[in-house]
Amino acid sequence: MSVKGDLSSSEKQLFNVISTGNVQEASRLLGCKDVRVNCLDEYGMTPLMHAAYKGKTDMCKLLLQHGADVNCNEHEHGYTALMFAGLSGKTEITWLMLDAGAETDVVNSVGRTAAQMAAFVGQHDCVTVINNYFSRARLDYYSKPQGLEKEPKLPPKLAGPLHKIIMGTNLNPVKMVMLVEENPLLLEAEALDKCRRVMELICEKCIKQQEMNEVLAMKMHYISCVLGKCASFLKDRDDKLDGLTKSLLKGRDSDGFPVYQEKFIRECIRKFPYCDVTLLQQLVRSIAPVEIGNDPTALSVLTQAITGQVGFIDAEFCTSCGEKGAQKRCSACKMVVYCDKACQKLHWFTHKKVCKKLQEQREKQEAEAAKLRMQQSNEEDKEANEAADATQKLKLETNSNGNSAAETAKPVSSEDADN
Ligand SMILES: [Zn+2]
Ligand SMILES: [Zn+2]
Repeated sequence: MSVKGDLSSSEKQLFNVISTGNVQEASRLLGCKDVRVNCLDEYGMTPLMHAAYKGKTDMCKLLLQHGADVNCNEHEHGYTALMFAGLSGKTEITWLMLDAGAETDVVNSVGRTAAQMAAFVGQHDCVTVINNYFSRARLDYYSKPQGLEKEPKLPPKLAGPLHKIIMGTNLNPVKMVMLVEENPLLLEAEALDKCRRVMELICEKCIKQQEMNEVLAMKMHYISCVLGKCASFLKDRDDKLDGLTKSLLKGRDSDGFPVYQEKFIRECIRKFPYCDVTLLQQLVRSIAPVEIGNDPTALSVLTQAITGQVGFIDAEFCTSCGEKGAQKRCSACKMVVYCDKACQKLHWFTHKKVCKKLQEQREKQEAEAAKLRMQQSNEEDKEANEAADATQKLKLETNSNGNSAAETAKPVSSEDADN
């Protein structure tokens, strides 16, 4: 156990180097014999707490690699490294701490958790990261028999693929179906039903635990709904989940809007079993008045509530699976983007019906924009000419009556110039 403030000279140097962000030098110091990675400064802060608070991501990585204790709680006011990460506002560092096993329900000397501290200082992105985080250990609880159970609720082999779905931030149901299809273990109605039940149990726990986590509860419920849908498709049909993907992607004839997907997501939200939860009421209030096909979509409202992602710009997200950073544009209409050829191929059966229409729309828009630009530049020319005329006139007047520049400097508009 380190004593607060009892630092070797190299340890003092390490604390200084952390603030500068010089990872190489920190790495060298960590190799010194008289440096303990979990040493404590006079306030009980570890090097990791310092790095988190200063927002030095690489430094945090380095310290964790060297065995920094992410749950050290020797700080004089009970702050943990996760709390400092939340205060820094760096989501990546917050995630690093969580991934290294940081406890989320520890409170500091004023009784606040890391999420509450982050919220208190307005670092809402970090709050989202903390509230969305669900450790593998918490899921593994369900893959061990509890109490009198002979078998666990979740077969251990399903924990990995299910955890991957839970940790995803892309809530597009098409993407979630892809994740199910990716793993043969999940591609069975019985396995999916087990996963679905575990999701509902976790949802219930999130609501009933002392510090209610509405965000995670909603996410678990939503995942449960999607898995349930997959299970029922697998039971009824023999085309695996192709039929479900098609239904989710199918656009209506008029504008290609995926009506089934919208209705499905709305239904998932409505089926949330705890009616008096504030988040549910907010979601319903945002979605209910929107006519199907208009913005915001249920997916964007849900995504914003759960992941905190705002500004759902179509251009950046794959039209099929909703992954961020999609760049492959449909070469005909140039109005939709995809991750890759596979995503485009998936969407073509329905996109082909509106592609031409979209192309015409775009060409019309471009033509109008060009016309507008032309008009604008004409007007600018006109204005420039008028201004030049006025200046010219001004000069002439000044010259003819010999007034001082200060007196004649008023007329700028043509009216005044005529007086
Ligand atoms: Zn995609
Ligand atoms: Zn197209």
